[in-house]
Amino acid sequence: MTAALAAFAFAPGLAVGSFLNVVASRLPSGQSIVTPRSACMSCHTPIRSRDNIPLVSYLLLRGRCHTCKTGIGLRYPAVEFGTAALAAASVFVWGPTWRSLAAALFCAALVAVSATDIEERVVPNLVVLPASVAVLALQLLWHPSVVWAASGLGAALFLFVVALAYPRGMGMGDVKLALLLGIGVGRAVPVALLAGMIFALVPSIVLFVRHGAAARKMAIPFAPFLALGGLVALFAGDRLVDLYLRLL
Ligand SMILES: [Zn+2]
Repeated sequence: MTAALAAFAFAPGLAVGSFLNVVASRLPSGQSIVTPRSACMSCHTPIRSRDNIPLVSYLLLRGRCHTCKTGIGLRYPAVEFGTAALAAASVFVWGPTWRSLAAALFCAALVAVSATDIEERVVPNLVVLPASVAVLALQLLWHPSVVWAASGLGAALFLFVVALAYPRGMGMGDVKLALLLGIGVGRAVPVALLAGMIFALVPSIVLFVRHGAAARKMAIPFAPFLALGGLVALFAGDRLVDLYLRLL
């Protein structure tokens, strides 16, 4: 039953992912996300409707523009597939509940923020703040509690202090992302922050090995790692917190 529902969630997930691609391409440069129609980044030919089907068109076009054959970034199918797969996973885990919707929306926001941070080094307020409000409302419908807002504010405060101490490593965008993380995963938010920091260590170490001391000046986008930590906390965080509390 939930497997069928989850499969059913995949298609709207793809549509949301496709919209997020538009958001990720246009928001950082301040363009409208409504008009004009999507066009090829290289030859500026408007994309035909039949070439604008999420995932399918990318595969049929073999990742190239129909007109000028310039390669289409892998980000497009990756965002579409990621959003759809995470929406399906949310429905699979929580069934037809407000929690599923909250989780799917939370995941979609994490995917969008990761894409903009990797490409433009921005964590857009216009994604994080409305997503925080909407996810909070859905969480409260599912389980009325102060834990969502309290976890969000606690996580944001924690990263704010870290950002003050290491201004080069983290920005205010990451602080706002921590707010969303806390609202999305509640009491499991320490798992999200810790996992995010551990994931971020990997490229830092690689850079350090390759470039030595010069690596210290190379900034790494942090949001994608926090987002990954958020996914770990969303799907496994409660179990990890319980396990930890039992060890105490
Ligand atoms: Zn083109």
